[in-house]
Amino acid sequence: MSKFLSIECNDCHNKMIVFGNASSKVVCKCGKGLLTPTGGKANINSKILEVLS
Ligand SMILES: [Zn+2]
Repeated sequence: MSKFLSIECNDCHNKMIVFGNASSKVVCKCGKGLLTPTGGKANINSKILEVLS
């Protein structure tokens, strides 16, 4: 999934644009881990609103 994703935090509903193939962890401003790299595709722990091309 090497695309940009529009995601929303399940806890505080903050919206962020992240890279779906990110190699570093993405943490929301509320402290919740939204995206965790697994070596291949990222493990996304939030709601995907939109996949951007
Ligand atoms: Zn949050």
